[in-house]
Amino acid sequence: MLQDIKSLTREELETQFAAWKQPKYRVAQLLEWLYVHRVTSWDAMMNLPKPLREKLGKDFLLQTLELVRKQGAPVLRSPAMRDGGGRDTTQKFLWRLHDHLLIESVLIPANPALYGDASDRHTLCVSTQVGCAYGCKFCASGLDGWKRNLTPDEIVEQVLAVERWNASSSSSSSSNPTEEPITKKRTTTRTNERLIDNLVIMGMGEPLANYDNLLKALRILNAPWGGGIGARKITISTSGLAPQIRKLADEPLQFRLAISLHGATDAVRNKIMPVNRKYPLKELVAACEEYQGQKGRMLTFEYILIAGVNDSIEQAKPLGALARRLFAKVNLIPYNRVEGLPWERPDEETQDKFLAALEKQKVIVTLRREKGHDIDAACGQLRLKTEKELNR
Ligand code: SF4
Repeated sequence: MLQDIKSLTREELETQFAAWKQPKYRVAQLLEWLYVHRVTSWDAMMNLPKPLREKLGKDFLLQTLELVRKQGAPVLRSPAMRDGGGRDTTQKFLWRLHDHLLIESVLIPANPALYGDASDRHTLCVSTQVGCAYGCKFCASGLDGWKRNLTPDEIVEQVLAVERWNASSSSSSSSNPTEEPITKKRTTTRTNERLIDNLVIMGMGEPLANYDNLLKALRILNAPWGGGIGARKITISTSGLAPQIRKLADEPLQFRLAISLHGATDAVRNKIMPVNRKYPLKELVAACEEYQGQKGRMLTFEYILIAGVNDSIEQAKPLGALARRLFAKVNLIPYNRVEGLPWERPDEETQDKFLAALEKQKVIVTLRREKGHDIDAACGQLRLKTEKELNR
């Protein structure tokens, strides 16, 4: 099967072009069409000679993601927002892949306290797999099991497709409804404005279970000739694959690491996250310490608060101890209900008590209450809902 051109690094393209006896500057021209203008057809690459475009089209794919559905309100693009004074809302995108499988990406507006520093503007949460094999009990993504890994270009393309959407929607004056099914592909845009400056790899799938494709995609998204997103602005999340955390520690790029912890004792994690039986906390903590030893970077713990499961003060104590031991920041996320699953979000009083218990232990902690609650925000939920509708 042919490879998509966006799965190739600059070095690989240079090797290919050298074999075709093409000058090196043609690679720079191609990369500019792909990652600056974000074109979606070979014919749009007007300064490449026609025979070269035909050769590219014969030997490589140039695939895009088809926007099936979007939920959320429009991203406001006022000057006030650019300096942090405006507000906009989370946007969830449902994409159809070339084999008709569905994946999600989520665009999260400026939120300085979340994953980075005060320069955060727009964060995109991307998927790395179709479905997930890890079966966390609270998660919509794993409900139908694992279908396949995403290829590097399918990970890269989520960023490009959202930026294309942004460019075309910002040139349209219509106000979008909160739920907007979209049936036709958006037209190609040549605007080179970048929207996304932060990435969180915590959409559908366990990112580190698709390690090689993910790392290749991130090298492309990080490269100055590609996505141009700083490695320190890219957070990779894992449910706790200890060996892959160690492998990531050896990577030269300085990615941020987030652990989807959701329980601070083996008893709680075993109950809701089967991965903990393979890599219990002792092993996970040792891998995190190794990562920190190599990288010297602060970790983040993602902690979904689930009523009656992990929201008691008894859990806040070991969570605080773990956070202090690993110099980890804690993001508390009240559970978003998933249709068909029995779990509930704790009431606000319980959430506040849990937060206060961590603050008392001098842990850096945020409670992320407002974003995405009304848009099937739990990862994988929009996909499940759409698949059910399509099957009906
Ligand atoms: S929480 Fe992450 S690792 Fe667990 S089932 Fe969902 S997608 Fe997979």
